[in-house]
Amino acid sequence: MAWYPGAIRKEITKFRTPLLIRRGVCLHVAVSEGSSLYSFFSGAAVCSHFYVRKDGTVEQYVDTKYQAPANLYGNKSLISVETQGGVRNADSEPWTAAQVESLAKICAWANQTHGIPLVQMPDSKPTTKGVGYHRLGVDPYRVDGGEKWSNAYGKVCPGAAKIKQVPAVIARARALAGETLPDTGELFTVSQYEDILEAIAGVREQVGNVGDNVTNSRGVISDRVINNLGPRLDKVTDHAYNAAVNSAANRQIIPANTAVLVERLLQVQASGGTLSRADIEDVFKDVRFTVGEAA
Ligand SMILES: [Zn+2]
Repeated sequence: MAWYPGAIRKEITKFRTPLLIRRGVCLHVAVSEGSSLYSFFSGAAVCSHFYVRKDGTVEQYVDTKYQAPANLYGNKSLISVETQGGVRNADSEPWTAAQVESLAKICAWANQTHGIPLVQMPDSKPTTKGVGYHRLGVDPYRVDGGEKWSNAYGKVCPGAAKIKQVPAVIARARALAGETLPDTGELFTVSQYEDILEAIAGVREQVGNVGDNVTNSRGVISDRVINNLGPRLDKVTDHAYNAAVNSAANRQIIPANTAVLVERLLQVQASGGTLSRADIEDVFKDVRFTVGEAA
């Protein structure tokens, strides 16, 4: 049994297919000003687990141990949240502050109840976990290998304005769930952060001790480490490495992602390979992607 305690419980009992994998929370806009979708869903073949009104009131229709069919092929693994609004302009209307707060609470609850990671889903691929939104699984926005979450071509759900608010929803959910993450002002995930720390440890091992203050107060690899690392890496690596630092300086990527880049470069070195332009471009593609600039 999993009912979010902050919701008005309006159970719709006809959806009884087990939700065995819970890999993400998917956010939607209902394109409705109705205060509830209970009547509509009661007579429909589709349904969401949650509905969030503009005043922040939450309704839950389906226990999260069951599937609520709002996401086509994503139904088997996603907790779905519909939100009131989007009638006048679904693409440009943001969620209200009360909706953002309620969405964050639902995500924090999903994290603590089901272990959904409080990170943004970059795509709808079956292995992707976290907090996402419907459009990720809608053509033509869907990536290659992404799961199809709608048959409606070009559906913007929940719309560009709301998609821009997803990082704020996640940041607030992290605070509510008590997760402590460095405040980088950028998006990188818990697992990426762990990867970064691991990369820093690996870098230290390979290039020698560069001092104790590897990360600064925000958990970002410090300038001192960056400055100490450069001369120790070989010429080809340096070239890409400097490009990474320059990109960081231009705020195209955050310094923490430099650690990811360095890790990748060291992997190439360790395998005895030489770094080609394609390798560098590949690395940069990943790095930009992790900070959400691919959208
Ligand atoms: Zn939707």
